[in-house]
Amino acid sequence: MLFAPEPLAPTLDSARRVLKQYYGYDSFRPMQADIIESILGGRDTVVLMPTGGGKSVCFQVPAIVQEGVCVVVSPLIALMKDQVEALKANGVSAAYINSSVGQGEQTSIASDCLNGYLKLLYVSPEKLLSEGFLQFLRRLRISMFAIDEAHCISSWGHDFRPEYTQLKLLREQFPQIPIIALTATADRLTQRDIQQQLRLNEPRVFLSSFDRPNLNLIVRPGQDRVGSIVEFVERHPDEAGIVYCLSRKQCETMAEKLKAKGIRAGHYHAGMTPNQRGAVQEAFLKDDLQAIVATIAFGMGIDKSNVRWVIHYNLPKNIEGYYQEIGRAGRDGAPATAMLFYNFGDVMSLRDMLTKDNPSLTQLNLTKLERMQQFAEAAGCRRKILLNYFGEVLPQDCGNCDICRNPPTTFDGSLLAQKALSAVVRMRERASIGLLIDVLRGMRNQAVLTGGYDQIKTYGAGADLPYLDWYSYIHQMLNDGLLYIAYEEGYALKLTDLGREVLQGQRTLALKKFQPAEKAEKPTRASKKAAAQASKPVDATTALFDKLRQLRKRIADEQNVPPYVIFTDTTLQEMAAERPISRVAMLAISGVGMKKFENYGEVFIKEILAYGGAPNPADAMEADDAEEVEEAPAARPARKKDVGDTHETTLQLHRVGLNVDAIAERRNLSPGTIRAHIETLYAKGFPIRLEEFLTMDEFAEIQTAIGQLGGSPLLRDLFDHLREKYDYFKLRLALHYQKKLRGE
Ligand code: ADP
Ligand code: ZN
Repeated sequence: MLFAPEPLAPTLDSARRVLKQYYGYDSFRPMQADIIESILGGRDTVVLMPTGGGKSVCFQVPAIVQEGVCVVVSPLIALMKDQVEALKANGVSAAYINSSVGQGEQTSIASDCLNGYLKLLYVSPEKLLSEGFLQFLRRLRISMFAIDEAHCISSWGHDFRPEYTQLKLLREQFPQIPIIALTATADRLTQRDIQQQLRLNEPRVFLSSFDRPNLNLIVRPGQDRVGSIVEFVERHPDEAGIVYCLSRKQCETMAEKLKAKGIRAGHYHAGMTPNQRGAVQEAFLKDDLQAIVATIAFGMGIDKSNVRWVIHYNLPKNIEGYYQEIGRAGRDGAPATAMLFYNFGDVMSLRDMLTKDNPSLTQLNLTKLERMQQFAEAAGCRRKILLNYFGEVLPQDCGNCDICRNPPTTFDGSLLAQKALSAVVRMRERASIGLLIDVLRGMRNQAVLTGGYDQIKTYGAGADLPYLDWYSYIHQMLNDGLLYIAYEEGYALKLTDLGREVLQGQRTLALKKFQPAEKAEKPTRASKKAAAQASKPVDATTALFDKLRQLRKRIADEQNVPPYVIFTDTTLQEMAAERPISRVAMLAISGVGMKKFENYGEVFIKEILAYGGAPNPADAMEADDAEEVEEAPAARPARKKDVGDTHETTLQLHRVGLNVDAIAERRNLSPGTIRAHIETLYAKGFPIRLEEFLTMDEFAEIQTAIGQLGGSPLLRDLFDHLREKYDYFKLRLALHYQKKLRGE
């Protein structure tokens, strides 16, 4: 028999201790602390936070510090199972009840609830609302109800679940118990529905920023999608990801193509049996499958934190859905890619689909589709557009989308436009986009020849430009209103008045230069495969990270749980960088709580020891750690030019304007580690805003001290000489800067 745990004081202080002890995290993210205070104060609370923002902690921690059990309503069996496994792995007593749980187990869970042992009980809405279960709940001491994925209550949303609307019963039957609603969907209608339907009582609403700066947003033209996706996955051999398709057929074909290339891929769609789907999902969670090709049905229940990329084979129906899907990548905060293939044909099929789907919502849905299309065709920072959709304003461009990485240059496109417009007229405004491009490029295919289009004056007039360039320019002309598409006439292109003016030379047209896709992706980051081929040395931190990852996979398989339940990628990365070999050092790693230390601390320390060697000084040095910094910078081994993933993440966050503390917070690393990253990056010539860390006056003073000591002084001597006025971080930056000035 299990005993009820000692009750804790329901204060923010004990919440902090719980966060460290059970989760291994040093501090709450800013919004989390406020939310937890509201919950501990007994208020109804609405939490709107993007996927990966850290919603679970918001109700789990209060559940642990409060007396009684927190009843969590969750729509999907897989989601419940994941969360409960993660909680147990952290040493929190939790259980779930749904249709998959047998009677015997239910009875034992019930008795754990009654004797106050269980802190969190996850249930499906169907189970919760059954009369027997409501009666059972009345016998319990309940701390709160947490409604996860609360947007399922709204018929406006994209995940509507009718059984959620019955949750109003909770307020009627348990008027005294606070209700916490959580979701990653923030639009106004959904918010209103949540509050009204759950009958929330003057709830406090927390709307966290929807920004996910670690996601690299990319849109590519929808040409040769299969080939591009295969190539992308091959270039990222160790990274798990999801490809979303619209149709089952596409989904299966795509998965086959990947498998044919030796990639561990699986497909997932609604036409499969629950068992088949469960098996695919399980294999993905366990890192046995690298890539899943899925229709939109996949992923809502996916808690996997190390999904590194999400690709949309088709244009999604709306921005909410798109954002939720890309949100499944990079939940651990490390860099991740969201790539969308955009093709005008998709807009056309989606229009058809939406018009048939639900006539009463057609207008709303078409408007949402238009916003999605605007995003895909954007000429400015994509993140600004996304955040704007959720009512947020990003003060500057993000630096981490294809447009920011490669801002388009404009040129006078009048002549080019005239060629296209003239061809449209000569083809008697009957041609679709594809045919127009073929004619401009002088192709000899059946459609061209049957129409007799090889006889017109503009045939071949644009043969000097590749297909994709034309594709881009014609879309720009559509967006600028020179052309429109007659949907009812087989999508034929027609001239507008504006188009006529340009054709007749009465008006000029600026076009944005087309950027080939490779440039838009990631210029700085060679894939591991390519790096190996070029026989560059593998970064020591990366090599250890791989070892730790293998160890994690072995343990996970033995215990039959997904690897990230043992430790997340970010935690392993920090271990690889910091190389903790003592209990204290291991517990200082973000994500290592007491229970995980007990279970795995020793084996991971052994692995780190077996890997051997002192940590890379630049990675391990803390500014206040004077003992470890005795060697002079000049004595360091030669550095190679590129840096590991963890440095790159820091660089990206620095580039988008975050300061050291903000980066540390976001990455669950210590500020000392981030400073070490900054130093390494700066030393290796990456663009770091030095003035943020070292003023010119400070540098002058340090330089004078170096002169007074003569030669290349030891850091420690410099530190002493300056009477400890500057920490080692500043001193090292000053030395690097001095070297740069001397051209070394
Ligand atoms: P959501 O439910 O909002 O999608 P999660 O609750 O799964 O997000 O949290 C995303 C990730 O962030 C998880 O790996 C979680 O453990 C981690 N996390 C949450 N809160 C913190 C915190 N205060 N410090 C560090 N990591 C955190
Ligand atoms: Zn941007």
